[in-house]
Amino acid sequence: AYQEYVRKTPKSKQFAEEARKVMPGGVTANIKAFDPYPIVMQRGNGAYLYDLDGNEYIDYLLSYGALMLGHGHPAIKQAIQTQMEQEGTFLFGTPHRLEVEMGRKIQSLYPSMEMIRYTNSGTEATLLAIRMAYAYTGKHKIAKFEGHYHGGYDQVLLSVNPTLSEAGPAHAPKSLIESKGVDPYHAEHTVILPFNNLEAVADILRQRKDEIAAVMMEPIQGGFIPADRAFMTGLRKLTEELGILLIFDEVKTGFRLGLGGAQSIFQVKPDLTTLGKVVGGGFPVGIIGGKKDILMQSAPTSSSDVFDSSQSHKSSAKDVLFHSGTYNGHPTILAAGLATIEVLEKEIDHVLAVTEQLKEGIRKLFAKYGIAMQTVGMGSIFNVVITEEEEISNYRDLQKSNFALRKELDYYLLASGIYTKPLNRYSMATVHGAKEVERTLEAYEGALSKLI
Ligand code: PMP
Repeated sequence: AYQEYVRKTPKSKQFAEEARKVMPGGVTANIKAFDPYPIVMQRGNGAYLYDLDGNEYIDYLLSYGALMLGHGHPAIKQAIQTQMEQEGTFLFGTPHRLEVEMGRKIQSLYPSMEMIRYTNSGTEATLLAIRMAYAYTGKHKIAKFEGHYHGGYDQVLLSVNPTLSEAGPAHAPKSLIESKGVDPYHAEHTVILPFNNLEAVADILRQRKDEIAAVMMEPIQGGFIPADRAFMTGLRKLTEELGILLIFDEVKTGFRLGLGGAQSIFQVKPDLTTLGKVVGGGFPVGIIGGKKDILMQSAPTSSSDVFDSSQSHKSSAKDVLFHSGTYNGHPTILAAGLATIEVLEKEIDHVLAVTEQLKEGIRKLFAKYGIAMQTVGMGSIFNVVITEEEEISNYRDLQKSNFALRKELDYYLLASGIYTKPLNRYSMATVHGAKEVERTLEAYEGALSKLI
């Protein structure tokens, strides 16, 4: 499979050599590197990406789920252009119309987000959520689930992808640091919980309720392993009872599970929610929202709350939760995001239906070739998990799957024009339709017939 990949992508190979002289590993996000070198894209259009060698791909990575209207959607282009032309600037540096328009839209789709603040990425949104939880509860530890990702900073870059031999027992996972340079303090400070195991979670939370400010979770792990419904409602009850906040990180699931995210599907109301990806229409954004009294901690009470060297009486600043950012609520990005939501309001059912068609087609082909597998996921994201297991309900179940075979399959698929990063999940967009599903299934059939 590798050979065909290399044969078709000589210009990507050459580019990678140059890129490695400029950026460590030739990439500017570690996740974007893979062996022997990543494909370098040159152009996108709708559901398609085109690489330096002119190969065409149906894109199922969609920038890690961010592009739910595909590449270069005309409605987004138009919205950006109109915003810039009519308002004449890229950035006001003051409050403006679109902050409130987007805010109202979020409030209507996510009723738990009574008030919101903007950030520039999902990472910044979860970081702010933690500060808000600390301030609100007066406690200073966060609990997160094994295998869940919330951004690359020290408080949460723990046990996202741990080596199981070091990770401790399933019912009480250890907190494992996953990067050089992380202060070991955080392994002591961040509590790791087992996903979809309410009994074990209850034991840990009850024991440490006086230290833990909040449980942060991806309602759907990695965007594709759903929380069990009873687990989710149980966890909501338990956290309420123990005085621990519940934070839904819906950076991936927001707008993708349904317009109202996982919370509308599960009918569970978190205290805080973070959004990102889709709501930026392809541009960097994050939103945090939740209960009014939690968000209101960051409301400045007077100009003296703002860090400004010209102010002589800054003492009240410590009573206000600090949140700032030059680009927060960027007008051009919010225009792109609002245009995205408008299109999705009309077309999300199409995306969900096409996702089901593709999943079913893939399952049928694996069955035809006698390979046990599951399509794991809800809404518009799923993963192809080659496994004999009956149920994939957490990180440890997933580790029992056949990653080697899946990887080989992915290189065959790349060589036949189906793009996702090897081992990554599939994200769907409004621009995927019957034609793309058909081509994808043909490629699968070709790959599987060679693999068997
Ligand atoms: N939370 C989740 C659930 C995510 O999937 C991601 C990004 N993959 C983040 C947070 C971080 O978002 P960003 O990359 O925009 O900082």
